[in-house]
Amino acid sequence: MIKPLPIITYPNPILKQKSQPVAKIDAEIKTLVEQMFSTMYHQGGIGLAAVQVGVLKRIIVCDLTYEINNHHHHHHHENCHHDLEISNQTQQCFINPVIIKSSSETSVCKEGCLSFPDIRADVTRPKTVVISYLNLDGEQQQVELTDLASTCIQHEIDHLNGIVFVDYLSKLKRDILLKKILKNGKF
Ligand code: ZN
Repeated sequence: MIKPLPIITYPNPILKQKSQPVAKIDAEIKTLVEQMFSTMYHQGGIGLAAVQVGVLKRIIVCDLTYEINNHHHHHHHENCHHDLEISNQTQQCFINPVIIKSSSETSVCKEGCLSFPDIRADVTRPKTVVISYLNLDGEQQQVELTDLASTCIQHEIDHLNGIVFVDYLSKLKRDILLKKILKNGKF
């Protein structure tokens, strides 16, 4: 098992920075991706952007089965994830991802973020998106994602652009939630 990396949390200013494209998918990048998967599973997330482990590169990992299983078996209790089976089939890595198409139809999802511990909020986003990206072999790929997968990838691509989910909330709502994080002292 690869050792998980520490998660960068609010109010670390690196979360507001823009990540740079990956020029070459070399051994260093592949190791980073493995560390990102390990970190995501360890923390019980369904998606992670490299900036969340302090690396300003345009890399995202996702695994949606986690959330689905978690909801199903554990009524969404975030700390109960150790008995979940992780299948390699469901691991997805997106390098230099770009949204090339967004539906006008929207969906609302209660989002959370490993960098904003213990808060959740409804965010409205396009229901379906088409993403172009490189896989770990450096091959150009295109995929259409909808519902939870769409929400997840849009949330993570935002991270690569220095945007976080609370940016979509009203200032009032955002301030209340962020104060809660600072009060909990989890940073
Ligand atoms: Zn996030």
